[in-house]
Amino acid sequence: MAPENRRGQPTMDLTHVRPNRVRRPMPARKRETVGIDLGTTNTVMARNFESLPMQGGGCIMPSVVAYPPSGGTLVGKAARRRRAMDPKNTIVSAKRVIGARWVSSYTSQFREHYPYDLVEGPDGWAVFNTRAGLVCPVEVGATVISGLRELTRCPVGDVHAVVTAPVGFDQQRRDATAWAVSKAKFASVRVIEEPIATALAYLNRSSLKYAFVYDLGGGTFDAAVVDCSRYPFRVIGHGGDPYLGGDDVDRTIALHVADRTLARDGWDLSNDAVTFDRLVLACELAKCELSGSEQAAIAIPSVDPAAPESCGIIPITRDEVQQLTLDLVRRTFAMCDEVLAQASLKARDIEAVFLAGGSTRLPGLRGYIESYFGKRPRVDLDPMEVVSLGASLAAARPAVSELLDPCA
Ligand code: AMP
Repeated sequence: MAPENRRGQPTMDLTHVRPNRVRRPMPARKRETVGIDLGTTNTVMARNFESLPMQGGGCIMPSVVAYPPSGGTLVGKAARRRRAMDPKNTIVSAKRVIGARWVSSYTSQFREHYPYDLVEGPDGWAVFNTRAGLVCPVEVGATVISGLRELTRCPVGDVHAVVTAPVGFDQQRRDATAWAVSKAKFASVRVIEEPIATALAYLNRSSLKYAFVYDLGGGTFDAAVVDCSRYPFRVIGHGGDPYLGGDDVDRTIALHVADRTLARDGWDLSNDAVTFDRLVLACELAKCELSGSEQAAIAIPSVDPAAPESCGIIPITRDEVQQLTLDLVRRTFAMCDEVLAQASLKARDIEAVFLAGGSTRLPGLRGYIESYFGKRPRVDLDPMEVVSLGASLAAARPAVSELLDPCA
């Protein structure tokens, strides 16, 4: 029997009829964004102020790409292990020549420091001549970012990125950095200066006038005064040394240890490149341990590269490393003097000092920085992640000035 309405009239049974689709507005899809610090030594990616963890642990990937004789491409830690045994086909520090012309000071300086077969590419760019053919630095950067993207399971395609670049990069080098990110399949790319990203990471909720960013990484030292009183933030003085960083510390310690083992055991660890590189890596491990303890042990590699196991231990103390690195640290402060002068400021005018770069954990360094500026540097954010964290904030909020609202 047909159902009736309240007046007793028959009505159609509509229970089996699908109601007209009501067109609701599609819920806005959240815009996926990431910040990328494509560093000379390491690369980190962050989303919404959190570093993206890699499968297998950690969030910091060495910016290294290797082309082994067996074919294919290795990236990150696996690539770095090949550095000493196959230096010409293991590309480290490609950022130093990203977007660099063959005829340029970047290229000639790079050739003085690295063993690569760097050649003039088809359009006058500097390119690596490797076992895998000619590879431009942009390609190396793209491989590093794609590798990290895979390890962090960051989706391909619809993700918008902000990548950081040193203040000293000209437009050509910034474009090349952005191009490396596009090649790693991001939907859009914007570039932000590294010290601005660091200041952003720290000044999310407060505001001040002059901040100093002291950034000592694996291969480079950068210093910048950032004017944070107006939006967008501006770098009003910057400088540094593109060939000064943790790598120099590791080599300095390794040479010191090599002298000691030569005197103690009669072994010359500096004679063979592969053995010396193993020693440098062992010294780096000990150096890192010393930021949390007074003494560390350096495992001495065997002088026989065919049997690389450690064949002894040399102890090293924080004080020794502090002494060994004093010159290097003094050089950074000479550059800080220049940067402050450029900004017509004195150290006492600086309201906050932000540290970036893993080498700011060097024994004793934070104390020297405190004495220089007369105030304790801010270290509450991990110095190896702070740049990508700041970039992730800029990426998440396209109008950076909005983010920097002092009322926020
Ligand atoms: P970055 O360029 O910021 O990725 O920093 C890499 C450099 O930081 C390398 O030279 C590392 O050896 C160095 N580094 C990392 N952790 C420490 C630590 N705990 N103490 C001293 N140097 C460190």
